[in-house]
Amino acid sequence: METGLSSTVASLAPVKLRPVPKLSDVQQRIQAARLGQAVPSLAAAYSQALARWMGDPVLRLAGVPILTDCYRSPERQNELFAQGRSKPGPVVTYKRGGKSKHNLLPARALDVAFLLADGEVSWSGLLLSKFARLMKAADARVHWGGDFPGDFKDRPHFEV
Ligand SMILES: [Zn+2]
Repeated sequence: METGLSSTVASLAPVKLRPVPKLSDVQQRIQAARLGQAVPSLAAAYSQALARWMGDPVLRLAGVPILTDCYRSPERQNELFAQGRSKPGPVVTYKRGGKSKHNLLPARALDVAFLLADGEVSWSGLLLSKFARLMKAADARVHWGGDFPGDFKDRPHFEV
């Protein structure tokens, strides 16, 4: 969303500014629907972290946080579990259908990525670790998948 402040800054600045990545109306509706699937504590932490991110002039230029997944049906979870095992692709989860916090409704987990100015989606570990700091600051009950013990780090993943 374009704020009054940033449009004022843009009109005053003679230099070419990098565009802030912007979600379309449809994308914003999808984001709101996904966030609505999360338990209130997790949704609140995400909303606060997102607001802090977008309030930071450097971070918001790096990319806009987006929810790629929140609630996931047990069937969809089993499809993901098969990936890297009985189906091609990298392993993306260690949880079978019904075992993931994504499979609860309301969901106790959400996955984050970043929309870049060129329309690409990024799962940058650096950006995710910065976002994780904001999530944990918003609510100490939030666990980041990047902190999971063992070799499998699920950096896009946050849960309560
Ligand atoms: Zn996840």
